[in-house]
Amino acid sequence: MTTDPQSAPQIDTGKAHPARVYDWLLGGKDNYPVDEAVGEKLPPEAKDAARQNRQFMHRAATWLAGRGIDQFLDIGTGIPTAPNLHQIVQRTVPAAKVVYTDNDPIVLRHAEALLISHPDGVTDYIQADVRQPEAIVEHARHVLDFGRPIALSLIALMHFVPDEQDAHGIVRDLVATMPSGSHLVLSHAASDLYPELAAQVTAEYAKGGIKLGFRTRPEVARFFDGLDLVAPGLVTATEWNPPTPGETPEGSGIYAAVARIP
Ligand code: SAH
Repeated sequence: MTTDPQSAPQIDTGKAHPARVYDWLLGGKDNYPVDEAVGEKLPPEAKDAARQNRQFMHRAATWLAGRGIDQFLDIGTGIPTAPNLHQIVQRTVPAAKVVYTDNDPIVLRHAEALLISHPDGVTDYIQADVRQPEAIVEHARHVLDFGRPIALSLIALMHFVPDEQDAHGIVRDLVATMPSGSHLVLSHAASDLYPELAAQVTAEYAKGGIKLGFRTRPEVARFFDGLDLVAPGLVTATEWNPPTPGETPEGSGIYAAVARIP
């Protein structure tokens, strides 16, 4: 586990934080009144979106582990919420290695839950910002073998990184470090599926001091440029390999896809 050795993580309870609002939306307890105040103002669909996103993570992780992927670099991990990614993949591949990353000190504070690996596997946590991808990759190289396929998961993360901060370039740089046969798993809030709800959610987060940039389908598709989308392609979170095929999935304002890195 890595953090700044000079200081214990500082939790700012005077300002809402993305990881804590998301925890509130999922019904968690690791949030503060300031986070709840943002969550309470959101339309009820925001809770549905958080749950659908988390369930997409479960299915995508299971799918990847089922194809023998046993190394994961998960950026924007969030506050631990059982089952976490490593618990899901280690059910299939007990020796799987997972490196978790988040830039929010509250995730570091709760990271113990992420570090309880299956004894055959490894989990690791680094507090870092996706906008400094080199630092993350440099750390991950100590744990993961970059000569073998890795799953890079950026789940409900990139809508916190605006275009001015080169969101697409960051993902491109991260993908470029991945060996052939690796996979990108990405989900992202949509600006064009339920535009009114999206505008309302963005406005409420902004009032809480959190800048969100939801994206259109073509803008999300660009994260996968040059990669091979696996079936069913770029769809909504609930449409991605639904657990009960044949049933019409619940509507979702989250785009999601898994792609193979050639
Ligand atoms: N991936 C988890 C959590 C999503 S919530 C899941 O899908 O269930 C988004 C997470 O991204 C939060 O924990 C937030 O702290 C983190 N995050 C936001 N901006 C970030 C950044 N620039 N670098 C790293 N993590 C970031």
